[in-house]
Amino acid sequence: MSAMKNIQICVNALRDTLKTVDARPENKGAILRAAAPIFAEFNLPPVRTLGAVNQSAKTAKGEKFNIDQYTVYLAPHSSSGAGNTCPAASAECIAACLNYAGRAAIEAKLTPSERRIMPARVARTVLYFASRPHFSAVLFNELQRAELKAAKAGARFFVRINGTSDISPRAMKVDGVNILDAFPNVSFFDYTKVYGRAALDMPSNYDMCFSWASTARAAEALELLRAGHSVAVPFADMGENGRVKLARAASLPSTFMGFPVIDGDKFDARPLDRSEGGAPAVGGYVVGLRVKRSTPAAERAAIDGGFFVTFERARYLLK
Ligand code: SF4
Repeated sequence: MSAMKNIQICVNALRDTLKTVDARPENKGAILRAAAPIFAEFNLPPVRTLGAVNQSAKTAKGEKFNIDQYTVYLAPHSSSGAGNTCPAASAECIAACLNYAGRAAIEAKLTPSERRIMPARVARTVLYFASRPHFSAVLFNELQRAELKAAKAGARFFVRINGTSDISPRAMKVDGVNILDAFPNVSFFDYTKVYGRAALDMPSNYDMCFSWASTARAAEALELLRAGHSVAVPFADMGENGRVKLARAASLPSTFMGFPVIDGDKFDARPLDRSEGGAPAVGGYVVGLRVKRSTPAAERAAIDGGFFVTFERARYLLK
């Protein structure tokens, strides 16, 4: 039986099992305990938490700005076999996705039985597709605790539900109340490649940054910038050897398509861009991100597909 088909059977089995547990935040333990035998049967690790605070190298940077950032990492696009978490993903962004960067990239070289990060992301994604109400209940529980912990520590609290996915936060509901309305004092933010969602008016506690997909979709990015939104763009500063420079040696252009570029690598918490990240008080701006070096073939594919923007292409797009 194929792995994808197996995962679909796992999703269905988990959905059936969870029917016996109320989807309530206080039932987080009961939900995850009920799910554990199903995950074990399908060779997936148990889900212990959906998200964590300052877990990755990038979010850990926020610590020096007194930021506690809770982030959820799911399996991106259709990689889990359980469903598609990135409705607007392109072949180029999939190839260059952060899901395969950092510790996850190191882990990809291990045998399947030695891997921890990817299987954990798949298990969370299976839970999401098996039952959104149960996934939401666990998420609400974790946010309540993380918010309290940040308040006790005097830290500023931010939440990114889509560390490596692109789903609407409004899909997360308990008792019919979506997560943005349920936590009005929490600053949520996300990057999205879904143009329609980026163009929506969102509640004031949700910051949405449109994520550059390719030069073919440059017109969408320009329209959003003109309407005063932010757009995140991965810039490739090329070395003389034809490879992208290492991030620590790479620079960013000062403007792109006529809009100011800020250093998006300073911290991940986008809601602080205008107050502490150098973005203008009003109007559109570009969140510049230095692309991560990978293999020569992957870099070339991302550049040729228009996902990575070289400085040369940036100049051309100005015209
Ligand atoms: S949309 Fe974002 S998270 Fe999804 S595959 Fe593309 S880069 Fe990765």
